[in-house]
Order: sequence, then C-alpha cells, then structure tokens
Amino acid sequence: MKQPATKRIHIVEGPDWRESIVALLDSRSPCRPWRYGFGEAHEGDPVAIVLHTEPRTVMTTVARIGADGRRDRAVAKPGLTGSGLVDIDSLVMLTRFDTGADPRDAWVLYGDDATRLKRALKRADRRRDKSMRYGHSSLTAARILLRSRGRCSGCSELLDLTGEDATEAFRIHTVDQPLRDAPEVLIKEEPFPSYKEQGIPDRCWLPRLPADWPGVVCRRCCARMEAAGYTNLLDFRFSQHPECRKCGGRRVQVAQFGMPVNPDVYWDTSPWIDWRGCVNDGGKWTCTDCGYQW
Ligand SMILES: [Zn+2]
Ligand SMILES: [Zn+2]
Repeated sequence: MKQPATKRIHIVEGPDWRESIVALLDSRSPCRPWRYGFGEAHEGDPVAIVLHTEPRTVMTTVARIGADGRRDRAVAKPGLTGSGLVDIDSLVMLTRFDTGADPRDAWVLYGDDATRLKRALKRADRRRDKSMRYGHSSLTAARILLRSRGRCSGCSELLDLTGEDATEAFRIHTVDQPLRDAPEVLIKEEPFPSYKEQGIPDRCWLPRLPADWPGVVCRRCCARMEAAGYTNLLDFRFSQHPECRKCGGRRVQVAQFGMPVNPDVYWDTSPWIDWRGCVNDGGKWTCTDCGYQW
C-alpha cells in the first residue's frame, strides 16, 4: 500500500543524552528522560528524536507512535548497525524549513516541513560510516553508544541496563581522530614506474587495522583492562585471542564464515573479525601480521 504523504512529524528531546540512549537501547531501563509536546497524535505518526549532545543532534532513525500496538508509546527500530546521529544545526542549515518550522524550537512540523525533515534524516542515515565515531566529543560518544546496540566491545556480552545505575554500567572508550594518509610524493627521473623495480609489497594483501577502536566497555571489562594495564581497547580485545602460530603476532582475528546481511554490516565490522566467505574450512583464526590462517 502506498504510504500517505507525511502530515506531521513530532519531536521528542532527551536533555540527558546518555540516559536517553540507555532508554532507547533497553526499554526495561528505569531511565525516562524525554521531553515532548505532543498535541494531536495518531498511530503511525513519525517522531524525530533530538539529543542534547554537544553539539545537539537528531537521530537518523525515525520512531513511530504505536509501532508496538500502544498508542501512548513511540518505538524506534534502528538497522543492524544502530541508529546514526546528525548535528541538528547543520541539518537546519542545509534544509529549507519555512519560518516558524525550525526543528530546534517546534514540537511538531507539518506538511512540507515534516516531509523535508524526514527526507533529510533518511539521507543522513544512508551517509554514515565508522569514521564518524572517532574523536572525543559527546556527539561521538553518543554515536559509539548507539552503535553498540547495548553490547560490550570488550567481551560482546549484553550490558545490564536495567538497574537504577544503568548509565554507570559502562564506559565509552573514545579514540583520537586518525590523520588522513599522507600522500606519497614520487618524483623520479627513471624511465620506468617504481612497481617494475620493487614489485608489489607483500603486506598489501594484509588487512590494515586501526591503532585503536572506539567502543563501549562493561564494568567487568573495565576492571580487567585496568588490572592488566590496557588503555587501548583493540589491544585488550586481541589479548583474548591466541598468538599467531607462525610469527607470534598478537593481532589475530577470529574467522567469521557466511556473508554479512548487507554492505553496511560488512563495512562496519569490528577489526577483530575476519569475514572469510561461505566455505567453512574449519579454521578459526587469521593473523593480521603475516596472513597465516589456522
Ligand atoms: Zn565486557
Ligand atoms: Zn602471523
């Protein structure tokens, strides 16, 4: 059935972004941080969720009123890589809302303005990747927490977000923004291209791992990291894998057989996982230093 044009979109805001995301990740959590100004609301109405990160953001996943059969509740269903966040000032700057229909002030947008906001969020949802989770701002931390889908990056277990202290049940590990690759300046006078002289380097087939990885760490993993002196989440995660049998390397990925359900999942895969395709050869580990698999 063809979807009717968006008549209205409601806006809900979470002044405490951490509590708000905990409430989104686990509906059993006691966190109820929302502010809203619903006037006339109907089942199926879309709801945009604004979070008071620094700078303020809006979630790229739109919730719907009554999606679980309850008309007093809006439910957001993020994709497999979690919901994204877009800075709301930039979104307003790049979208032509009518006067008086600014999603930073209004509780409801109507007609064309509602459609513009929905489209802008859809575009933003398509355009996001893991590089947006580098840096140390609260916007970045909120992205990392949303991406976690409520699982610890240290042990892959679900976080316990049901207690009164749910917002303290984890630590968000942020990582410096990596510098872009410096260009290789090649000024040569020889008549032959350099690859003819040196060949293709062996390492070009090996995965390029980041120095560290942004993630959410449960209390237990925080304690284990601290006790063992780890400040780097990627090193901590790899420390739970065996050393390479061939070269003794410590950055060994765990093999994953099958195919990711979509390209987003593939590109968003954590660096300790090696997608090996559909044919299960019984192997379990891949060394990222020498490429040996066993
Ligand atoms: Zn953990
Ligand atoms: Zn190796």
